[in-house]
Amino acid sequence: MDTQTPAGINQQRHSPGHKHYPGRPVPIEFADYRQSGSVTSTRTGSRSTHFLIVGVLLLQLVVTSAVLILLAPIESPTPDQNSVDALHLPPSTAGQPALPPPQPFPNAGRERPAATPSQPIIETASPIRQPTAQPPTLAQRQPVGLEWRGLEITQGIQVFNDPESPRCVPDPNRTDYIFCNNSMPLVAGRHTLVRAYPACNGDCPTTDLTVYLRVFKDGRERASLTRQLSAQTVQQINNLPLLDLRTRLEYSVNFEFFPPPDWMTGPVTFELTINGQDTLTLTRDFAVRRPLRVAYLPIQYQGLTPPEITNIDHWLLRMYPVPAVEYYRLPVPDLVWDKTVNKGELLNKLLFTYWLYAQYQPASQWPDQLFGWLPQEFYNGGVSDPFWCPNCAGPHSSRVAFGGLRPEHDIGGPRILVHEIAHNLGAQHAWSPTQGEDGLCFRAEGTDIQVDPAWPYPETPHIQEFGIDLYSDPPVIYPPAYYDMMAYCYQPWISPFTYRKLFDSPYLQPQASAAFLLPEFGPLAEKNSSGTLLVSGVVYPDGTVSTPEIVRLERSGAGSFAPPAFNPPPGEDYCLDVQATDGSSLAHRCFNPGFADIESGAMAESSPFFFTLPHPERQEIGQITISKNGRVLARTGPSNHPPDLVITFPNGGEVLENQQTMTWTAQDADGDSLHFDLLFSPDGGESWLPLVTNLSDPAYTFHTDQIPASSTALIRVVATDGFHTAVDESDAPFSLVANHQEH
Ligand SMILES: [Zn+2]
Repeated sequence: MDTQTPAGINQQRHSPGHKHYPGRPVPIEFADYRQSGSVTSTRTGSRSTHFLIVGVLLLQLVVTSAVLILLAPIESPTPDQNSVDALHLPPSTAGQPALPPPQPFPNAGRERPAATPSQPIIETASPIRQPTAQPPTLAQRQPVGLEWRGLEITQGIQVFNDPESPRCVPDPNRTDYIFCNNSMPLVAGRHTLVRAYPACNGDCPTTDLTVYLRVFKDGRERASLTRQLSAQTVQQINNLPLLDLRTRLEYSVNFEFFPPPDWMTGPVTFELTINGQDTLTLTRDFAVRRPLRVAYLPIQYQGLTPPEITNIDHWLLRMYPVPAVEYYRLPVPDLVWDKTVNKGELLNKLLFTYWLYAQYQPASQWPDQLFGWLPQEFYNGGVSDPFWCPNCAGPHSSRVAFGGLRPEHDIGGPRILVHEIAHNLGAQHAWSPTQGEDGLCFRAEGTDIQVDPAWPYPETPHIQEFGIDLYSDPPVIYPPAYYDMMAYCYQPWISPFTYRKLFDSPYLQPQASAAFLLPEFGPLAEKNSSGTLLVSGVVYPDGTVSTPEIVRLERSGAGSFAPPAFNPPPGEDYCLDVQATDGSSLAHRCFNPGFADIESGAMAESSPFFFTLPHPERQEIGQITISKNGRVLARTGPSNHPPDLVITFPNGGEVLENQQTMTWTAQDADGDSLHFDLLFSPDGGESWLPLVTNLSDPAYTFHTDQIPASSTALIRVVATDGFHTAVDESDAPFSLVANHQEH
């Protein structure tokens, strides 16, 4: 997203610590904002939502002697606890139905386990009981006083309609499967809610009811739970359409799980029985997905530094189909950007920082994503670098993105982060109205947005179904009129379509470590390689090319990690050739630079390319060219002399604290201008962190607070004349004291 958001819109925010949720039931004006055909409500009857249900659900957590399950009690609110002080309804606009606010769980300060539960399930040798039935939806029904209208199992968004949408194609391999009930995939380790909707079959009962849930896996019963349900509740909700029942958790029987990932993997059967009468069974697979690791880096720009943006991982975890999220600062100093912000150049810089970081780290330490935060004063929006958009201007790494934070708007930075990283994982844009068409959206009149051609909800940006945030306390329900996070709108949540896209992302598959994803993104082959050769540059829309910049890094002796390769997808327009001095080919890679702006499709100023290749052992490089249709557009070759480089400070034995300036001397006998990358080792050379890249001065001033403290610190300077690279390290370790004082 890269659209200026209007000032003055102060939306309701839901931060993890935000406890003042609107609790009082408000009239829900349910306009049918969903696309016709996607939902059909056949039940008519009272749509009144003024009644307040008090004390309808009383949890009885039955821990049988055989089974312990991680479960959160759900209690109903009392009227006195409710408050509307935090309820800021969105500004109504003409033609826009007033949206119901997100509805919290009725809750009384229960404890919630951590996002990744580690508490073990205790299993015993209880008698093996088979589930009664395992059809995908309904089980046998008995013509008695109570029945189930349905059961949904959700971890963030779920499809559930009665009757099922006519667009449903019950084949998980078909795209229309996302219209089928309970088609949203479940991920092992995510918080999970089992929601069941009871109804009267004939006269409603006059006595309270007991609901049983039994959970089976591998033919064994793993949990047995009960809920009490008042007769009054059943009477009150009996005639409500399912659409209304889904607006409030008081209107369903809820079992919230925090299952350990290993326990929930594979098919799990849920069997619900109401008052011993109607039994409903649903079997769902829990799939394994990787936790998402997102590193961030503040970008200093025009003298301003963005604030440390913490707590954003909650938004990734709430919406994404992943079991856990790590969000942490890349342990390197702020990135300083002293040019105007050019999307492709800044993406290339971030990718270079990522590459240099990963160069000296084991693949298990690589973040999946690196996100740069710009000062909000200069940038309000975001840019990604998706591999799936060959027409887009960028190195096509799917690894880096950047954006600016506007915390006072909507959910601010989190919306930008979830949007841009979703791009990198494979999600494209939702259909987005202009601001004039929908006051909750901010696409300006006359501007364009690249909409996913497969977006399945024609001309609507809404999420279509009920979303639920099970990671907030209390949890929050998001109505179907909320906006997909891939739209240019406020009130973001995730649609079934986008959820499925992320679930299918190659970057989240269990076998995909950060190192082994797409063929061009794996580690460089160590064989016959003496190091890494980086060739980067810029292609312009007129067909000209900048002279490629070359950095060659030797494999470090200690910690010989396989460095990552980040190469653009293969193409045919332009070719990079690396030739040995005898003219033989050492590398031949072709690519298609794209010039479309990633967000709008408008023409970008330039398109960067970024190749990392294994450096051939014992073979000297004669020249490197970029060509198009056999015509060489840019050529670089070795000058006569590599740079001379000597570190002068710190060079061993020093104790550094507060502000310091590292220095070195460097000359080039050919008179080439030199550029320097500076690395830091906190552990005597075992691992290296990039401090700064592409310096033109032989000095770097830093504050020790921004670097890990160490008594065995070293620095390494990499000097390049555009082709040759020279490297020097501190002669002996020095100490670095981090005192974390105000400065
Ligand atoms: Zn976008």
